[in-house]
Amino acid sequence: MTDTQKIPYKIYLEEHEMPKQWYNVRADMKNKPAPLLNPGTLKPMTAEELGHVFCDELVKQELDDTTAYFDIPQEIQDFYKMYRPSPLVRAYCLEKALDTPAKIYYKFEGNNTSGSHKLNSAIAQAYYAKQQGLKGVTTETGAGQWGTALSMACAYLGLDCNVYMVKCSYEQKPFRREVMRTYGANVTPSPSDTTNVGRQILEKFPGTTGSLGCAISEAVEAATSREGYRYVLGSVLTQVLLHQSIIGLETKAALDKYNITPDIIIGCAGGGSNLGGLISPFMGEQLRGEKKYRFIAVEPASCPSLTRGKYAYDFCDTGMVCPLAKMYTLGSGFIPSANHAGGLRYHGMSSVLSQLYDDKMMEAVSVEQTSVFEAATKFARIEGILPAPESSHAIKVAMDEAMKCKETGEEKTIVFGLTGTGYFDMVAYGKFNDGDMSDYIPTDADIQKSLSGLPEVNL
Ligand SMILES: *Cc1c(COP(=O)(O)O)cnc(C)c1O
Repeated sequence: MTDTQKIPYKIYLEEHEMPKQWYNVRADMKNKPAPLLNPGTLKPMTAEELGHVFCDELVKQELDDTTAYFDIPQEIQDFYKMYRPSPLVRAYCLEKALDTPAKIYYKFEGNNTSGSHKLNSAIAQAYYAKQQGLKGVTTETGAGQWGTALSMACAYLGLDCNVYMVKCSYEQKPFRREVMRTYGANVTPSPSDTTNVGRQILEKFPGTTGSLGCAISEAVEAATSREGYRYVLGSVLTQVLLHQSIIGLETKAALDKYNITPDIIIGCAGGGSNLGGLISPFMGEQLRGEKKYRFIAVEPASCPSLTRGKYAYDFCDTGMVCPLAKMYTLGSGFIPSANHAGGLRYHGMSSVLSQLYDDKMMEAVSVEQTSVFEAATKFARIEGILPAPESSHAIKVAMDEAMKCKETGEEKTIVFGLTGTGYFDMVAYGKFNDGDMSDYIPTDADIQKSLSGLPEVNL
């Protein structure tokens, strides 16, 4: 029997095989990620302090680095069943086109209306807000995927949803905005005159088209200045990684059904939530000394926090209202050049992935956007799925690794995360199709300049 007959194009899980718990990789880390600090006192943030900003149950998850498994509440499991399990696809067509002996699998998270993995955490965060009896939540969105996911989750649970959308996206991506409004969200272009921090930024930089860091500051202020509201965040935080572990747990369960052990696991890294979620159960095995894998984080050359940033405490937002996090960072003042992978434009990285990277438990590479769009186009034509520019970073490196196997003749098994679809990114595809896309890579001087603004923390 050939391999092709044995392993289906898509490996699904039956309903009863779906994970019922999330996995918290911190429980198996010897070197725990550094705690969030209060920017005023430089002391670790307490549950009480965090509770002013985040929902109580999410604060518990954020601070817990010893409990390995958290039960997924039944209502969230039921919601997951509407669009999960997401398919784990054997990329037979791609393998053939590349003429590689490598076996390539991808976990496709674009199978829901929001178009990305972000819904996995959005429903969890909205659920805990509802449980706490809150009226609503506030958040920021850059490219729009997170705002869309949260709007869907809030609509499902009947929560008020307020999204601060980076102004340039608000103007450039009217369809994203309308999807959010269709699901009942209030969408405000940021910076706006509805918050103090927004008004200050507008005064200092009139005509600015905004940034993610600035929108975070506005959303936090909007939550903390109103009764019955909390702030929610779509990436970076460890609670988000925990929810996204559903990706890795499903992947592992599906592979285990066919006794497949991956050699290389690849994901794009913006704030680190999809990659962290995908690798978590595998990383757990590696941390416990049971198995060894190659994990590769892929980031854009225009925003290279792991590959060229510094491991230090930094602000999570431009307005410096959020706690300090220890992470690989380019500095909170770093403004990446116009890059079309909006979801990968964050200056920092999850503190969990930062610690794992610092401990040499995983690798990181950066890639330039024209090569990413070349890979995306090739993938679309061969495998059929039109990938998000963010996801295409992982595609690019998966293809590179498959081509290395062709040279060496090794039959490695490669798994990568395909985080979403690119339907709302056609302006970027248009630029690429017209040959108008460029690759801007920050100079060392650019990075040094923004790193000079790091806060002084001597612990
Ligand atoms: C937000 C997003 C990313 C990056 O975020 P992570 O937290 O690093 O996973 C990647 N792909 C898509 C499609 C996204 O929407």
